[in-house]
Amino acid sequence: EYHYQLPSDNVGECWAVSAHPNGDTIVKDGTFAGKTLSYLWEHHNELFGEAKGEVFPLLTKIIHAKKDLSIQVHPDDDYAMVNEGGSLGKTECWYILDCEPGATIIIGHHGQNRGEVSEMIDEGRWEDFIREVPIKPVEFFQIEPGTVHAIKAGTILLETQQNSDITYRVYDYDRVEESGDKRELHIKQSKEVIVAPYIGRVPDVDKQATCNEEMTNLVSCPFFHVWKLSVSNKTTIVQDQAFLIVSVIEGEGSVDGRAIRKGDHFILPYEYGEAVFEGNLAMIV
Ligand code: ZN
Repeated sequence: EYHYQLPSDNVGECWAVSAHPNGDTIVKDGTFAGKTLSYLWEHHNELFGEAKGEVFPLLTKIIHAKKDLSIQVHPDDDYAMVNEGGSLGKTECWYILDCEPGATIIIGHHGQNRGEVSEMIDEGRWEDFIREVPIKPVEFFQIEPGTVHAIKAGTILLETQQNSDITYRVYDYDRVEESGDKRELHIKQSKEVIVAPYIGRVPDVDKQATCNEEMTNLVSCPFFHVWKLSVSNKTTIVQDQAFLIVSVIEGEGSVDGRAIRKGDHFILPYEYGEAVFEGNLAMIV
């Protein structure tokens, strides 16, 4: 069962699989019905292959931006450890579920080095600074720590991220809130963590990350692997990871006889073994 926060004036967010205190996912049915994901992490870590860490490491969200969201950057684990009281940094990735024609995102910047980044920010040369790229549905973007990024209006995406809140706001289009104030910016921290120059690269793909040929690896990084799994009729996969988070993004069908459809999210725990999918389904795993 997932939390759904009604769209405010500019964004709707579904925290689909989360052990974050601001929106802890509740198990819908079965042995652990009614328990939170954070409870399972703490008391039934065997479900996750005894994976290490104080908190469930990932957060799966669906974000629907109706206005341009503020431009931000996240620190890496090392910076967050020192400067944010031992928090995790944040690596995230975006799978574009849908977008309006002509939609764009912001990923990266045009500063050649740290000095230039600092100058462009201080002088408010946002047009020169910001790297904006067109997007289409089914495209996938890896957002490494230190990458300037923003979701712009008219986009729905599925985000997989490290379970962290540490966000530095670089620029908010000089917008004024209803209260008459501008949102707080974090210029000092942003300048410290923005990686310059921005190096656009194709995400690493690790063909060895799973024995399942049916799953297309979209990215492999130290914090997560992400695959797309498309099923037409019937597909069997082997759960060979510590755990798998599955988000159904299209269609309907079943997994081992349980009905699933677009909008459902579930976890296949450690040593689950074979999972048989039937129907017409697209999933991000
Ligand atoms: Zn972000």
